Amino acid sequence: MDRLEDRMCKKHDRLLELFCQTEEVCVCLLCTVTDHKSHPVVPLKEEYEVKTAQLGKRGAEVPQKIQERKQKIEEIKDTVELSNKDADREIAHGGQVFTALIGCVEKGRDEFNQTVKEKLKSTVTQAEDLIKELEQEIEDLTNQSSKVKRLSHTEDHLHFLQSFRSLKDPPPTRDWTTVEVRPPSYVGTLRRSLDQLEETLNMEMKKLPDDAELKRVQKYEVDVTVDPDTAHPKLILSEDGKQAALGPRGAGEKRLGARGAHECQARGRAGGKGGAGLGAKLLTVVIDREGRQG
Ligand SMILES: [Zn+2]
Ligand SMILES: [Zn+2]
Repeated sequence: MDRLEDRMCKKHDRLLELFCQTEEVCVCLLCTVTDHKSHPVVPLKEEYEVKTAQLGKRGAEVPQKIQERKQKIEEIKDTVELSNKDADREIAHGGQVFTALIGCVEKGRDEFNQTVKEKLKSTVTQAEDLIKELEQEIEDLTNQSSKVKRLSHTEDHLHFLQSFRSLKDPPPTRDWTTVEVRPPSYVGTLRRSLDQLEETLNMEMKKLPDDAELKRVQKYEVDVTVDPDTAHPKLILSEDGKQAALGPRGAGEKRLGARGAHECQARGRAGGKGGAGLGAKLLTVVIDREGRQG
C-alpha cells in the first residue's frame, strides 16, 4: 500500500485513521459523523493490536493442529498397514481351508468316477464272459456240423455206424433266450456321493471356528507397551509401560461382571520382534483384583 490515495477516504478525501467495528472497515473522521455516526470506532493502532493478538494466537495453534493431523495420518497409515497384514493372513488362512475343501470335493469326484467305472467294468466283464461262452458254443456247433457233413458222405457202413454213435447227441448248449446283459444302473450313485461329500464338508467346517479363533488370539499376543499419557487414571503402569495394575478404588472405574475385573482403556504401541511398530491402538486392558492382566 504505497499510494497515498489508498490511504484516503474516497468519499471525503481525508485520511483513513479510524476503524468502524460494526462494518469492519477503515473510515475517516468525517465518516464517523455521517455514514458511521452510530457505529463504535477505534483508532487504527488499537484495532491493529487486537487483530495482531488474534493472529498470533491462531498462528500458535497451527503447528499444534498440523502435528495432530500428521499424527492422525500416521494412525490411519498404521491401520492400513495392519489391515493389509490382516488381509494377507486371512487370505493365506482361507486359502488353506479352501485347498482342504477342494481336496475333499476332488476326492469325492474321484470316488464317484471310480464307482461308475467299477459298475461298468462288472457289466463289461459279464458281457465278455457271455461272448466267450457263445463263441465256444459256435465253435462246438461248427465242429459238429462238419463232422455230420463228412459222415453224410461216408458209404462205409461200419465206419458210419461207429461214428454215428458219437454224433447222435448234439453238443451241450445253453438256452440263451432268457440270458441278457443289463446295462449298469447309476441311479442314486451321484446322490450318495454328494451326501457323503456334504457330511465330510460339514465335519471339516465344524473344525473351522476354533481354528480361526485360535489364530486370531495368537495374532494379538504381541508385546504391548501402554502409553502412560493416555492410560485410564486408575491404571498404574510399570516403568517400561508393559505391566499394568489397578490403582486404589475410586470414582469412574467400570466393574466387569462378578469376578471383580476392571476394564480400563489406554493407548498402546505394539512392537514386533523386528522393532517394526504395529501402530498405536486403543487398548482395553482387563485387570482383575489380583492384578492379573487379561
Ligand atoms: Zn470518510
Ligand atoms: Zn460504520
